[in-house]
Amino acid sequence: MDRLILNNYGSFDLTFVKGKGATMYASNGRKYIDFVSGIGVNCLGHNYKPLVKAIANQAKKQIHISNYYFSDTGLEFAQKLLKVTGFEKGYFGNSGAEANEAAIKLARKYGQLNGGEKRKTVVTLEASFHGRTLATLTATGQDKFHPDCFAPYAEGFKTIKANDFDCLTTAFDDTTAALFIECVQGEGGVNLISAEWAQAAAEAARKAGAIVMADEVQTGVGRTGSFLASDALGFNPEVVTLAKGIAGGVPMGACLFRGKAADVFVAGDHQSTFAGNPLACAAGNVVIDTLTKDGFMQDVINKGDYIREIIKSWDLPCVKDVRGKGLMIGIQIDTKYKPFDIEVKCLDEGLCTTTAGSDVVRFLPPLVISYDEIDKGLEIFKKVLESLN
Ligand SMILES: *Cc1c(COP(=O)(O)O)cnc(C)c1O
Repeated sequence: MDRLILNNYGSFDLTFVKGKGATMYASNGRKYIDFVSGIGVNCLGHNYKPLVKAIANQAKKQIHISNYYFSDTGLEFAQKLLKVTGFEKGYFGNSGAEANEAAIKLARKYGQLNGGEKRKTVVTLEASFHGRTLATLTATGQDKFHPDCFAPYAEGFKTIKANDFDCLTTAFDDTTAALFIECVQGEGGVNLISAEWAQAAAEAARKAGAIVMADEVQTGVGRTGSFLASDALGFNPEVVTLAKGIAGGVPMGACLFRGKAADVFVAGDHQSTFAGNPLACAAGNVVIDTLTKDGFMQDVINKGDYIREIIKSWDLPCVKDVRGKGLMIGIQIDTKYKPFDIEVKCLDEGLCTTTAGSDVVRFLPPLVISYDEIDKGLEIFKKVLESLN
């Protein structure tokens, strides 16, 4: 398989052929419980009937038309997404990094319009992750993503320490274009940002003349138990980026604007060929319709609490912390053990998990996972943790 696909993921020697709900079926004939959902993408699980139907129906109508024109499906999606998020305008793209590139470009232009050439810096958080393109890599607050081989990196980025109130007094000045907050740091270790700090940081940034942006590529679209995690944190960003779960598995990203950020981009400032592709929008419509059903978000909160409580109740010495929000879950493991080894053992037993930071096992199950699937997955996870020595 290495000969067919660029081996830059360290993929497992395991081939999946289909799925149903939070259960996946491999070509080796085995069943796996899915606690990854394609890295927080398949929010409606596998083979979710209304999603499959909407994609098939859209394929019969039109798959792609370019942004020279509007599509009825795309307009419907834009309306739904803006309504559920409370934003004024949206740019659609195809991935998280691309949505973040749009946000960074918008921040730079906003800075220039509101302070001139010097106001260009985008401030991000230590331990954050923002993507793999050159600008989003530079924005990412982790040195391991900045090897010399990819230098030179983009200019105009700076990091501050999340949840540190002291740093806020000097963090922003007349060179700051935007503060960019990853609402729960996913890749960095499932680290929570406190609401008090996010609000104080946003206030300090705005006082200095900057706008505030939220990277909700992973936390958005219900992952943490509210459609946007920034709503729960209460810092009211002018820009939010979404991707991962937004179209239930079809590639899509979005950058949404409001207030001072709503009229920064003008025609020609930012574009992409595939952006707002009707097939992705048709899928996105089903995601929003499903997530806005009565009780859906409460269900996500309940399932997340259920998983965290059960793991805590095991009281295992190798578990140092169980954290997260909604169905974004981090289990911090004693540094004697490697999260990747646990991931491998879980896979051997029929459970897909992933890792985060240097010492965290991360769960991002489909939002529609059943309690039966949760119980089965946790049974495997417990067995693996107990087997560590
Ligand atoms: C996954 C992720 C990205 C990058 O998204 P891609 O679709 O892989 O480009 C950016 N920011 C956050 C917070 C992410 O979790």
